[in-house]
Amino acid sequence: MSKKLQRIRDLQHFGEEGGVVPVIDVASTSTFLDPEDMSRTFRGELQGCYLYSRHSNPTVQMFGRKMAALEGTEAALGVASGMAAISCALEKCVEAGDHIICHSVVYGGTYALLQNLFPRRGVQVSFVNFDTLADLEAHVKPSTRVVYIETMSNPMLNVAPFETLQQFKVKHPKIKIIVDNTFAPLLASPVDFGADVIVHSCTKFISGSSDLIAGAICSSSDFIESLIDVNHGPVMLTGPVMDPRVAHELYLRLDHLHIRMRAHSERALELARALEKQHIHVIYPGLESHPHHARARRYFGDDFGFGGMLAIELGTPERALKLARALQDNKFGLYAVSLGFSRTLISCPAVSTSSEIPEVDQRKISLTPGLLRISVGYTGDASIQVERFLEAFRSL
Ligand code: PLP
Repeated sequence: MSKKLQRIRDLQHFGEEGGVVPVIDVASTSTFLDPEDMSRTFRGELQGCYLYSRHSNPTVQMFGRKMAALEGTEAALGVASGMAAISCALEKCVEAGDHIICHSVVYGGTYALLQNLFPRRGVQVSFVNFDTLADLEAHVKPSTRVVYIETMSNPMLNVAPFETLQQFKVKHPKIKIIVDNTFAPLLASPVDFGADVIVHSCTKFISGSSDLIAGAICSSSDFIESLIDVNHGPVMLTGPVMDPRVAHELYLRLDHLHIRMRAHSERALELARALEKQHIHVIYPGLESHPHHARARRYFGDDFGFGGMLAIELGTPERALKLARALQDNKFGLYAVSLGFSRTLISCPAVSTSSEIPEVDQRKISLTPGLLRISVGYTGDASIQVERFLEAFRSL
């Protein structure tokens, strides 16, 4: 059984009267019994005091401790969204004149952030389709501060070359490796391969209910502290903090994340196998036909499967949208962006969540308008769901 699960389980916070569930501390500001302590906190001479909820909040910190247990980092901070996690983590690592290497297959919002906003601040970004150490090192400059990658890329489901990142870290210890682990919570432990910072969109599998927007940054205590520094902290100064009510919800949901991840993985594997049998072009890291299957086996272990995301190549946008409509009509799933929901969500990334990537670059990463991304839910009967899919497919 995974050590991560035990770490999460062993963290226990009680309610005020011994309740088995902790209370939510909604206060936006906290009292200082000694006024001098407030000045010392602002001067950075006193740590650990609750000041103001944009700086720190007991319930958000409690959620942070559970996220740190999940990722095996010293600390973690809940923030308002996945994009807040990505932009604040990056902001902390670079300044004007610096350079970021970003893997060329990333979520469209991340691509747009790095392509459109960071260059305006004088930060140069190279999008690189790296696999080997040589691929990566060919793009390193004296100004490189960050290598950024997703564990399982959105939407192509490439698995990050963690061993390459590990070798890279040994040779370039000062360059920070930031990994977006949104698609693979519990499955992968990027920190074991030298990642310095792990970011999550908790909107997805960690929430599991498509009912809130949230994010988290997991890293060393120093890095997390630096995010809320009153003079230089990007979370403190740009303000995308997590609401304590959301932190409380997510704190509780982390207790059943493992059950949900296993259910997503089982359903996704079953569907992927059934589709492959019908000669449908399916992309799923759990299939032997996936180019990174061996890698996925090495990194993910046996506990939680290969995740809940799969993609299908339909050849043309017309066929993709026709199938999406038929799948929705046939009650197989809902045509909606996002992922990690208990129900199945279907989208066409080229014209939605990856549309920020210009067509010419989409082609370079083999992202076609005929690709449908499916976040496989676990509600309903698995065999009926497979049958509904095949029925819709036959109607094409
Ligand atoms: N990272 C990945 C891999 C995503 O797919 C998304 C959103 O789809 C994000 C980050 C952004 O998360 P959020 O919508 O919570 O800001």
